[in-house]
Amino acid sequence: MLITHDTRCALDAVVDLVNTAPDDDGTPDRLPDVAALGDFVRKHEISDVGVLSEFDLSAVRKVRGRFAAIFAEPDARRTAGLINELVAAAGTTPRLTDHDGYDWHVHYFAPGASVADHLAADCGMALAFFVVAGEQERLRRCEAPDCRHAFVDLSRNRSRRYCDSRTCGNRLHVAAYRARRKEAAG
Ligand SMILES: [Zn+2]
Ligand SMILES: [Zn+2]
Repeated sequence: MLITHDTRCALDAVVDLVNTAPDDDGTPDRLPDVAALGDFVRKHEISDVGVLSEFDLSAVRKVRGRFAAIFAEPDARRTAGLINELVAAAGTTPRLTDHDGYDWHVHYFAPGASVADHLAADCGMALAFFVVAGEQERLRRCEAPDCRHAFVDLSRNRSRRYCDSRTCGNRLHVAAYRARRKEAAG
């Protein structure tokens, strides 16, 4: 499936967003205040969102919960339903753009959309195309039991089991090394 620059950015943003959620194991919310939301907006270059408020923060946290549910849903039909609800609530205005030297691509957020609606529209549509391509299984949770971070598996054969974090990547290497050694010994 074709992953354009903008889709890639939207995927990075949505994965990052879902992974700011507090964990059951006591990891605190990594979007604790409006300033943290501002950092998130700058990091992911989310344009035209204006001055951020407490309202934006709570709206983004709600959208985050809906994205988390999408990553947790294995069934394509239910995933489609969740994405449809999310995108419909945000409202969209698809329009072609070639801003900043990028090739033609489509933006979905409506002009003047809040940051929550911007994320819901553009990241929601980025995820929608995985369902269209029959590849929503690429929207995954890290299999490391103490991690469970969301990630998008863009590997050719959809074989990634762990997220990008250094710990989980290393764990994968260590596990593979042990397996090879066991095989060699056996
Ligand atoms: Zn763009
Ligand atoms: Zn992980």
